[in-house]
Amino acid sequence: MTSPTGPPSAEGESAERVPVVALEQVSKSYPGATIVHALQPTDVVVWPGEFVAIEGPSGSGKSTLLNILGLLDTPTSGRYLLDGYDTSRLSASDATALRAFRIGFVFQSFHLVNYRTVVENVELAAIYRHTKPRHRRHAAIEVLHQVGLGHRLWVKPPTLSGGERQRVAIARALLGSPALMLCDEPTGNLDTRTSGSILDLLDELHHQGLTVIIITHDPTVAARAQRRLFITDGIMVETPVDAGALT
Ligand code: ADP
Repeated sequence: MTSPTGPPSAEGESAERVPVVALEQVSKSYPGATIVHALQPTDVVVWPGEFVAIEGPSGSGKSTLLNILGLLDTPTSGRYLLDGYDTSRLSASDATALRAFRIGFVFQSFHLVNYRTVVENVELAAIYRHTKPRHRRHAAIEVLHQVGLGHRLWVKPPTLSGGERQRVAIARALLGSPALMLCDEPTGNLDTRTSGSILDLLDELHHQGLTVIIITHDPTVAARAQRRLFITDGIMVETPVDAGALT
């Protein structure tokens, strides 16, 4: 395999499909006076193009899992392969580069810079990847059109609705065609109707081939995914489609 940020190696990835996410007996414990086993050994495979929800109540281990999936924290044990790269073997700087190139994050609270325009907010994602300024702008405008914000390019976030702000965040996450879009309660700050339109957008992107993982406590949000995983007390199970009965 080539460097984590380089193109896929011809012989390594051309013949077989590589999972976007492969967790092999991944666990997480937090040390302290009483050790907390936040995530029990977990095996999960997410294939390219899947739309997966990870659902669970408060304190169940969702943030712990999100941090591992997003390369923001490392597991206590087990192996995590992201897009074929064994993340346990990466240096901190390679992990940062892999995260910047392969994962698009969408958070509940948007995380936009209020004094920058919509285009500039999206471009920020490319700055971390050292993309040339001319290419950055072109790519940012393209993804903003893709999320339906072609008419709001030059305004600043405070003049946008909540739904529009989340569309900017989704555009920013899309920039550079990540292998995985990782969404943490993406509709948590939105009313029901706007939530529906954001979930419609994620569904549309999924149908265009994007791999999406949504982490949520909300069964109605999880119900929009093609596949549902349920986490409780750090134990993750694949749930049947009518998992609403569990909540
Ligand atoms: P959720 O996101 O589903 O609310 P978390 O992953 O935040 O759940 O937490 C899972 C468990 O791990 C909880 O019992 C929580 O108190 C504990 N926990 C989370 N982070 C830490 C930490 N840094 N140190 C100790 N315990 C933690």
